[in-house]
Amino acid sequence: EKWVYSFGDGEAEGRASDRDLLGGKGANLAEMASLGLPVPPGLTITTSACNWYYSQNRTMPAGMEEQVMEGLARIERITGRRFGDREHPLLLSVRSGARASMPGMMDTVLNLGLNDDSVQALGHDAGDARFAWDSYRRFIQMYADVVMGLDHEVFEEILEDEKGKLGYEYDTDLSAAEWQEVIALYKEIIEDELGEPFPQDPHVQLWGAVKAVFASWMNARAVTYRHLHGIPSAWGTAVNIQAMVFGNLGNSSATGVAFTRNPSTGAKELYGEFLVNAQGEDVVAGIRTPQSITEAARIASGSDKPSLEKVMPEAFSEFCGICNRLEAHYRDMQDLEFTIERGKLWMLQTRSGKRTAKAALKIAVDMAAEGLITEREAVTRIDPSSLDQLLHPTIDPRVTREVIGSGLPASPGAATGEIVFTAEEAVEAEAEGRKVILVRIETSPEDIHGMHAAEGILTTRGGMTSHAAVVARGMGIPCVTGAGTMRVDMRNEHLIGLGGLTLKKGDIITIDGSSGQVLKGIVPMLQPELSGDFGKIMQWADSSRRMTVRTNADTPQDARAARSFGAEGIGLCRTEHMFFEGDRIQVMREMILAESEDGRRAALDQLLPMQRSDFAALFEIMHGLPVTIRLLDPPLHEFLPKTDEEIAEVADAMGMEPKKLRERVDALHEFNPMLGHRGCRLAISYPEIAEMQARAIFEAAVIAARETGAAVVPEIMVPLVGLRSELDYVKGRIEEVARAVMGEAEMQIDYLVGTMIELPRAALRAHVIAEAAEFFSFGTNDLTQTTFGISRDDASVFLTTYQRKGVIEHDPFIQLDFDGVGELMKIAAERGRQTRPDIKLGICGEHGGDPTSIHFFESIGLDYVSCSPFRVPIARLAAAHAAI
Ligand code: PEP
Ligand code: MG
Repeated sequence: EKWVYSFGDGEAEGRASDRDLLGGKGANLAEMASLGLPVPPGLTITTSACNWYYSQNRTMPAGMEEQVMEGLARIERITGRRFGDREHPLLLSVRSGARASMPGMMDTVLNLGLNDDSVQALGHDAGDARFAWDSYRRFIQMYADVVMGLDHEVFEEILEDEKGKLGYEYDTDLSAAEWQEVIALYKEIIEDELGEPFPQDPHVQLWGAVKAVFASWMNARAVTYRHLHGIPSAWGTAVNIQAMVFGNLGNSSATGVAFTRNPSTGAKELYGEFLVNAQGEDVVAGIRTPQSITEAARIASGSDKPSLEKVMPEAFSEFCGICNRLEAHYRDMQDLEFTIERGKLWMLQTRSGKRTAKAALKIAVDMAAEGLITEREAVTRIDPSSLDQLLHPTIDPRVTREVIGSGLPASPGAATGEIVFTAEEAVEAEAEGRKVILVRIETSPEDIHGMHAAEGILTTRGGMTSHAAVVARGMGIPCVTGAGTMRVDMRNEHLIGLGGLTLKKGDIITIDGSSGQVLKGIVPMLQPELSGDFGKIMQWADSSRRMTVRTNADTPQDARAARSFGAEGIGLCRTEHMFFEGDRIQVMREMILAESEDGRRAALDQLLPMQRSDFAALFEIMHGLPVTIRLLDPPLHEFLPKTDEEIAEVADAMGMEPKKLRERVDALHEFNPMLGHRGCRLAISYPEIAEMQARAIFEAAVIAARETGAAVVPEIMVPLVGLRSELDYVKGRIEEVARAVMGEAEMQIDYLVGTMIELPRAALRAHVIAEAAEFFSFGTNDLTQTTFGISRDDASVFLTTYQRKGVIEHDPFIQLDFDGVGELMKIAAERGRQTRPDIKLGICGEHGGDPTSIHFFESIGLDYVSCSPFRVPIARLAAAHAAI
């Protein structure tokens, strides 16, 4: 079997489409080499080799070592250097590279091949002994950490000590001889701590590094990252071994990262950062503040450090050419890593660049306009879930800002929260329902769980491509990085802002990830504007989708918001929510607790006009679009007064003894209300409630039709039906009311009566129920609850454990369980259509706004999905993806 693929010198054995086998980095290095771009020669060990390693008790497959040696010989031929040579040593970088990018999660070793001999040769070759010793100490540090498992802090301590003794401030102050002393100490501590010396044999070093990269696939950070991003552990990682090029060979050398378009705004401009005389990870690590690549960006940022365009114009112009070529070749915005070694440009990586949702929209729309991609492709380029980011609030421009610091606008949107200084605190706060801003000097991969839990992230160090910036953008969390005007005092848990203003842990701040500002306290915010590029993509998406998207809305406010997000009707109006408004609950309680039908009717008479005006408002806002109104569903239990005070109040209104009322409350108490007196069972016990609601609906339809001139076709939905006879009974009441109202108004009203399918029995008996039901709406919340026999109110505790232990992959209340609940839906859809071929089928559970579930709903041919207003754009886009 072929385990190793070579590349370099204008050729490659692999190509971009080999991503599964070679990992993203390896596949794209091969592609760039084939395109004739300057890529240091190298080889990629396949992901299959990694999978073999794990499946065969952490051993290497037979034949792999020989293949690596052949590849190495090729690198030696191309570079004219030899691995382990005393005169012209070849040095290598060893990097991980999975199918999906996992920034900073796995291990890398640079400068491999250095030892006590080759360090001399390197110094000689480069004409710079200091550089060679500096590279050697970096290598020892990295290798001891990554391969030998010795924490890098021990080395930092030694170095700090030495610098202290010598009176130096910067690492760059050390001379070659002084680095040699540091290296001696490094080697000593390795032997002391690990009982074995630092390996001098380059081949031993190489295999140690390869194994370490394989092993890093299973390290805790990588596992967490995969879990958060749904990356299967079966993918494995590739290992890329490449000839080293040096960005730290003096002032004509540099290293940097760039995006072919602005990853924050999407603007068509080369965007990136570099450091002179620096090596690989220095830029991303955010330890030194990097310089702009283009002069335009430098001017825009107000920096006085010169741009790459200025300091290395030739390399810059070659780089610009490569950027254009790669973008056109991949037909997407690229994220690039490069190194300049003594004026010569080398490309180290290219991949599709991560971008904010806003940038993704702009890039997709612009590329469609440039003819690079089609409109349909543009639609598929936008991840539906990422639209969440655009729905983030921004700071109201009319308010005066109390700015206490500022940094880079690393990830857009504004967020307010309490200051916390560690990832752990952020996680704890989230669990308690508190909103926090995670404040760090800089973040590292160990912080990701805390970053996820925070509303926003603020760092005082690092650039637009620092770890914090990249991760926050990916997560859609507002982020400000490199707030150099602020200082974090970790020991005292203080954040010190402009003018020495000191904030403590728990103090409230607001960050504006779009401007980079940090503000004191809570700041008024605005809801986002959904036009421009967003509007275009949505329009293109709408023309590609089959399913309609409705909204779950109970109030005029929700209905209006949903309309502005493009909802095409209401798929679920939960009428019970209306009874909790203002003092309606009081009347509702009187109704429930009444001892006779007369008492109930008296309370219902008071509720009727309220419901009527609610419905009339919804009909008017929806202006002729379908509106599905569900009859009262929740257990009566939920409306009961609980405290003595509440009971006294209701008793007073009803002219009843509080004690007697308490008895009635106790009698209505249920042990398992979710499976108790709820849904259509209420309408059967107390038909007058359903009748009042039906009357309110029909009268509102009359009002709306008269006022707007648009015909309203109300869809009345009966919840929690399991038996056809239940539906028949309730439908009979509704029809009677319909006849009465039409007679009174002397007006014909068209309407539909349908049912929720939210019990397994209803799904199985759908062909019979469809004889009476004119539409089905799947209540996947209850259907999930009743199919699994898992209480939706109590599930989260053990479902989290289930997920952690790998018993289930997804929470079935978030992503539909296709195999079980989905199967029931399929059965119900098929059987319903058998009886009534044109039956309207929709879904109104939470899954109606989940992109993956939406794909499933498309596959079983539902007519519409209905979701909460803020998820409407996501559902529109996901429905388009599902149809394309
Ligand atoms: C459902 O059960 O999926 C549903 C939409 O109804 P509710 O969440 O109100 O029970
Ligand atoms: Mg339900």
